[in-house]
Amino acid sequence: MRALFAEWVAQSGFGLTVDALGSMWVRRPGLEDHLPPVVIGSHLDTQARGGRFDGILGVLAGLEVLRSLEDAGYKTRRPIEVVNWTNEEGARFSPPMLASLVFSGGMAPDAAEDRRDPAGIRFGDALDAIGARGTVSPLAKPVDACFELHIEQGPALDAAKVPVGIVTGGFAMSGRRLRITGRTAHVGPTPMMHRSNALVGAAAAALAVDELGWRYAPEQGKSTAARLDLRPNLPGIISDEADLWVDYRHPDPARLADMDADLEAALTDCARRTRTRIEIAERWGFGGFSFDADLVSLLKDTAQALSIPAVEMLSQAGHDAYHVAKVAPAVMIFTPCIGGITHNEAENIDRDMTLPGIRLLMEAVVARANR
Ligand SMILES: [Zn+2]
Repeated sequence: MRALFAEWVAQSGFGLTVDALGSMWVRRPGLEDHLPPVVIGSHLDTQARGGRFDGILGVLAGLEVLRSLEDAGYKTRRPIEVVNWTNEEGARFSPPMLASLVFSGGMAPDAAEDRRDPAGIRFGDALDAIGARGTVSPLAKPVDACFELHIEQGPALDAAKVPVGIVTGGFAMSGRRLRITGRTAHVGPTPMMHRSNALVGAAAAALAVDELGWRYAPEQGKSTAARLDLRPNLPGIISDEADLWVDYRHPDPARLADMDADLEAALTDCARRTRTRIEIAERWGFGGFSFDADLVSLLKDTAQALSIPAVEMLSQAGHDAYHVAKVAPAVMIFTPCIGGITHNEAENIDRDMTLPGIRLLMEAVVARANR
């Protein structure tokens, strides 16, 4: 995908630079080329069972904006750049949104390169293995504004038959890795009273996490018990160690804090009932913020001027634009995905329902670039 994208960029006659974390930067010069660029960014990587549009649409929409301006012979005051952020999904190297995290100063480039996949391979070495490491600094540079177009990854726009979501901010998200500790023993002779089964503790915790989401569902809260690692995970032995990855989200950061507290209380109860130890081994989170008010207004005004139906909404997934928003004005445009199906190979879009969003992207980017 990286090679194909580079080929299309070259065919279109734009310059391409690659930074030290592999993010690809396409540039169309401005009339006043020293000014900070307007950036259109998203990602080409996918989840292991992901679809063809999550992230990819936003990068290709950016390239199409540049090509359209080129075809029209239209020059903007500021340069416009399109970025493909490396490792947005975190499918192989955690955390997700790694390159934009480094760009925003949230992690040192060296630390990012030292992230390892489950096989122990360093992220930096994996970049070298495919010739994806460039020489440009991956740290933030002056950016006038950043726009990310992305499929909604939810059912709202498709259900309402509205082509554009103007994303005003993001749900607040908490992630936790729970470590459940029990004691190995023989599954036969060990009396029930003497058992401390990490699998049972993890199962209780997974249910508690799910119940948390249902409790907050009326106010759009949600939760996932996403991944379980169990050791030794064998038929004849009670497991003594489990890691459970959980994720929960809420539109209101204050209510997310209530979910944090509810979960901790529930885990204490799970540990007592299952006679295991349950601790929070790792915590992370994102979201719970608003995108740049001027850019939101620009999108609203532009959509209105173009008679493009649009609704304001919050993003419920994480996106590179969340990190970029810490160092530059940023905003997102959502386009519908059919049935809200995403992180699934059946993910699909409708061309006619997508083009209005790309048109809005182009007009807003040009307005900003000429400001
Ligand atoms: Zn994405």
